Amino acid sequence: MRTLEGKSAIVTGSTSGIGLGVAEALAGAGANVMLNGFGPAEEIERLRSKIAHEHRVKALYNGADMTKPEEIAAMAQAAAAAFGSVDIIVNNAGIQHVSPIEDFPPEKWDTIIAINLSSAFHLTRATFAAMKARKWGRIINIASAHGLVASPFKSAYVAAKHGVIGLTKTAALEGAEYGITCNAICPGYVLTPLVEKQIPDTAKARGISEEAVVRDVLLAAQATKQFVTTSQLGALAVFLCTDAASQITGASLPVDGGWTAH
Ligand code: NAD
Repeated sequence: MRTLEGKSAIVTGSTSGIGLGVAEALAGAGANVMLNGFGPAEEIERLRSKIAHEHRVKALYNGADMTKPEEIAAMAQAAAAAFGSVDIIVNNAGIQHVSPIEDFPPEKWDTIIAINLSSAFHLTRATFAAMKARKWGRIINIASAHGLVASPFKSAYVAAKHGVIGLTKTAALEGAEYGITCNAICPGYVLTPLVEKQIPDTAKARGISEEAVVRDVLLAAQATKQFVTTSQLGALAVFLCTDAASQITGASLPVDGGWTAH
């Protein structure tokens, strides 16, 4: 069902993983999408054109670096100019670094805070006034189960994701009387490049094998013992954009196979 026909979305970090799954789901519901993120130009163009053709929507790409506030603002302007409005933003771009606090490189801390937390503020700031003026908006922040609980060796990531949940609540309150909802989706482990990359680092930090990381660390707390899928997250994002979800705001919604139920 094309419940989002006529709406336009920006999804940050959508050249891979969860962001790509969410962008595909929004396009599948009829929304125009602006893709963002890094990767080989031909591969990004292949994804963009596949989404545009398969779903008969406008699909654009903007390469804004989420560590650069001026590029984020320019991306918001470009999307508004191309689509006519930006109705939905999905703040998804994120990176990880796994290391004990005493060895955690300060520049990694700064980059993780910039990409995983501050970019969500900058894109919200750049689109909020127009959403208020149109009295409709949907802001979806891809936080994490690590926005609700911590794990060792992920200080910057856990701090950023807890911060995203604070930003989510504040934006929800400021948008509440203007038809704007803001919610955080808190996934457990999803098998994307971000997770695949941290398996060797976690194995090193804990002194265990990579198989043991998957079994005893990643899926240890995930009660279902299954990875979450990107299409499950995409389906929730689409639901949050519908009128049925207009009273869900300021919420942090775990999709974590029971992890945070412990
Ligand atoms: P991924 O590595 O597959 O994708 C990350 C995306 O962000 C890519 O498109 C990448 O190009 C983009 N990106 C990275 N740095 C960027 C920058 N400076 N500017 C613009 N784009 C940038 O990761 P993923 O697993 O799909 O993660 C997406 C989000 O979901 C992240 O915020 C992550 O913290 C969150 N999350 C992931 C999991 C998981 O298990 N994979 C669980 C909970 C939350």
